[in-house]
Amino acid sequence: MDVTIVSGACIGSGQCTLLAPRVFTRRDDGTADVAQARPSKGQQRRAVKAAEHCPERAITIA
Ligand code: SF4
Repeated sequence: MDVTIVSGACIGSGQCTLLAPRVFTRRDDGTADVAQARPSKGQQRRAVKAAEHCPERAITIA
């Protein structure tokens, strides 16, 4: 699994950091950044859930 956030697409809604706080982190400007691009097995379901709930569909999982 490879997690990325599409540059410029994040509006800082915060769902990803709530749903997967080990995988995503927030920058000072409130937008999200990837903390674990290759999440552990235990975090992968959370990462997928975060991607599904991102209002901007800014999270890609390959
Ligand atoms: S859920 Fe999407 S829009 Fe919201 S902070 Fe995360 S990446 Fe940004």
